[in-house]
Amino acid sequence: MISRNNRVKGYLTILGAGLAGSEAAWQAAERGIRVDLYEMRPAKPTPAHKTDHCAELVCSNSLGNNQSPSAPYLLKEELRKFNSLVISAADAHAVPAGAALAVDRDHFSKNITEQLSKHPNITLIREEVIEIPSEGPVIIATGPLTSPKLSESISHLIGQEYLYFYDAISPIIDANTIDYDKTFFASRYDKGADDYLNCPLNKVQYYSLVNELKNGEKVPFKSFEKPIYFEGCMPVEELALRGDKTLSFGPLKPVGLSHPETKEQFYAVVQLRHENKEGTAFNLVGFQTKLTYPEQKRVIRMIPGLENAEFFRFGAIHRNTYINAPDVLTSELDLKNNKGTYFAGQIIGVEGYVESVAMGLLAALSAVKRIKGEVYTNPPDDTALGALLKYVTEYRRQSFQPMNINYGLFQVHEMKIKDKRERNKKIELKALDSLSQWMEIINGELIK
Ligand SMILES: Cc1cc2nc3c(=O)[nH]c(=O)nc-3n(C[C@H](O)[C@H](O)[C@H](O)COP(=O)(O)OP(=O)(O)OC[C@H]3O[C@@H](n4cnc5c(N)ncnc54)[C@H](O)[C@@H]3O)c2cc1C
Repeated sequence: MISRNNRVKGYLTILGAGLAGSEAAWQAAERGIRVDLYEMRPAKPTPAHKTDHCAELVCSNSLGNNQSPSAPYLLKEELRKFNSLVISAADAHAVPAGAALAVDRDHFSKNITEQLSKHPNITLIREEVIEIPSEGPVIIATGPLTSPKLSESISHLIGQEYLYFYDAISPIIDANTIDYDKTFFASRYDKGADDYLNCPLNKVQYYSLVNELKNGEKVPFKSFEKPIYFEGCMPVEELALRGDKTLSFGPLKPVGLSHPETKEQFYAVVQLRHENKEGTAFNLVGFQTKLTYPEQKRVIRMIPGLENAEFFRFGAIHRNTYINAPDVLTSELDLKNNKGTYFAGQIIGVEGYVESVAMGLLAALSAVKRIKGEVYTNPPDDTALGALLKYVTEYRRQSFQPMNINYGLFQVHEMKIKDKRERNKKIELKALDSLSQWMEIINGELIK
C-alpha cells in the first residue's frame, strides 16, 4: 500500500511508466505538479516487456502514419503542440520508415527514461503497486498487461470484470543473417526513401508459405479462453485461415513494389522494417504470430532471403485487458464512482502507442486541474484528441471494443466531402485550429 501520510497538496501519483504514464508524468510535472511515478519493472516483469526502460515499445517500432492528411498524423501533430515527451523522443530517434514514424526503440525509451528521471518534479519509484492508493489524485496507466494483483484491486474498485482481447507481436531478425541478393530495398509507391527491405515471393512460394502458416503448430489457448483479436493486430496465421489470398491483399500485398533494377513485379512481398538506426535488426511488418518458436523459425525461413535468419526476438501472443470505459469513466477520465481516480492508456480501450500517449496527456491535464482547483474543459470533438476521448467515454452501443484513431470517429460536416484527400485536409486544418483555441483556455487555466 502506498503510504501518503506526508503528502502535501500538489502531488499526483501515477501507476505505470509506459507510454501513457510517462507522458502523463511529464505533462503534470511541467505544470508544476510533484509526481510519484511507479513502475514495477525490472523487479516484476510483464510477459511482453524486455527492458527496464520507461515507455518501452512492446512490439512494432512504428508509431504509425506520419503523413498529412491522416488521422494518425493529426493525433501526433496535436501531441506535438503540447510538447509531448513521447512524440518528441520519437521524432528525435526516428529511423527510415517511409510514411510512418518508426523509432530506434532502445534510444527512444532510454531518452524518455532519462528525461523523466532527471525532472525535478518527478520521482520514479521502481515498485509494483498492488492496491490503488486511497488518497489524492491517481492516474492508473498500467496498461494491457497490468499485474494480476493490481488488476484484482481495479476490478474490485470498479465493480466489474475486465474485458479482454488478444494481441500478437512480430519477430525481429538479425540483419547479418539476411540474404541481400534475394531481397531489395524500396518503399511502396516510392513514398519515402528506400526504407523497407522487401522479400519477394512468386506464386508457388506464396501458397506454400500460406499453407505452412495455416498448418504450423500454434501456442494453444487455455480451455476457458475464447480468442478475441483486435483487427489491426491479427496474427498472420489467422489472416491466412480467412482465405488463401487474404495475405496477398493484406500485409503481403505486392502493389507499388517492383524491383528497382529489373522492374519485376511479384505475387506477394514480405516487408522488413529497420529496428534501429545502426540497421542491425529488422522486424517483419504485419507478421504478428502465435506459432510456437520452433515453427516460427521453420516457417519464416521459407521466405526468400530469410533462409538463414536468426531471431533476436520471436513473435508472441498476449491477453490484453481493458475496462469498460464508457460505463465507468467520466469524460474527464476519472471513475464515476471514485472521483480523482483517473485511468489512461490502453487499459481504457484505446488501441496503439500514440493513442495511449494521447490519453496520458488528457488524464494529466484533467488531474492537474483538480489538484489546482481549476475548471477543466475537454478537448473539442473536432480534434483527434477530442474524437478519441469521446469514443472511449461515450460509446453506447453493445460491445465496447478497443479503437485506433481514425476519421470515422470525427462527427464533423466535412465528412460529407466526397474527395477523400480534400476531406481529410479540411478535417485536419479545422482540428488544429480548434486545438489552438482549446490550448489557450487550458493553458490559461493551468498556468495560473
Ligand atoms: C503484446 C502487445 C503488442 C502490442 N503491439 C503494439 C504495436 O505493435 N503497435 C501499437 O501501436 N500498439 C501495440 N500494442 C498496444 C499498445 O499500444 C501498447 O500496449 C502500449 O504500450 C500501451 O500503452 P500503455 O501506457 O497503456 O501501457 P504500457 O506501455 O504497457 O505501460 C504500462 C506500464 O505499467 C507497468 N505496470 C503494470 N502493472 C504495474 C503495477 N502493478 N505496478 C507498477 N507498474 C505496473 C508496466 O510494467 C508498464 O511499464 C501492443 C500491446 C501488447 C500487449
